[in-house]
Amino acid sequence: MSKKAVIVLSGGLDSTTCMGMAKEKGYELYPITFHYGQKHNREVEQAKKVAEYYEAPDHRIVNISFLNQIGGSALTDQSIDVPTDMDEDEIPATYVPARNMIFLSLASAYAEVIGAEAIYIGVSAVDYSGYPDCRPEFIESMNETVNLATKAGATGSNMVIETPLIDLTKAETVKEGLRLDVPYELTTSCYNGEEEACGECDSCRLRLKGFEEAGSTDPIPYKG
Ligand code: ZN
Repeated sequence: MSKKAVIVLSGGLDSTTCMGMAKEKGYELYPITFHYGQKHNREVEQAKKVAEYYEAPDHRIVNISFLNQIGGSALTDQSIDVPTDMDEDEIPATYVPARNMIFLSLASAYAEVIGAEAIYIGVSAVDYSGYPDCRPEFIESMNETVNLATKAGATGSNMVIETPLIDLTKAETVKEGLRLDVPYELTTSCYNGEEEACGECDSCRLRLKGFEEAGSTDPIPYKG
């Protein structure tokens, strides 16, 4: 029987790279995508294409769009604009309160149901936006928590939260992805979610810088 991994798949560059990495490790891929009340549906649409590309047998799209009732993020709250200027010292308005804790809770529930031994999440502690839920300390703590909270953990089949990008810069992630033939043309990163990426938001800039430093060109279309 093949071993299974749940991949938290947003349809972005990092999580799609995780699909390629988990595949290389020999896992059968079980992507889970969350509709968490983003202002646009773009990520979910691209995640579907990525899941199809990898011929994932069961792509779960879980609607937790009620998170926009909590708001507090430029990505989910209509009253907060997406910022275009990155201030290195501050946690930006695109931070979604407790998002990775919520995602990993649900991903661990799914992992338990299908008997997966690993959960992949594409967080990086190097080139990131200062989000507290991308820190290694959080991942370690959450790994302990999901094993304490689940039947799988209690009965000895521990789950491991895998964060293969945690020490990688965006450029290193892109290089690794290109080596693994990750379909970056199917991914989306722009916070604005339009057909053509804006090239100006934090996420676009980080992505473009990553491709440039990796000596490659981003295959997705940009405005202008
Ligand atoms: Zn953008």
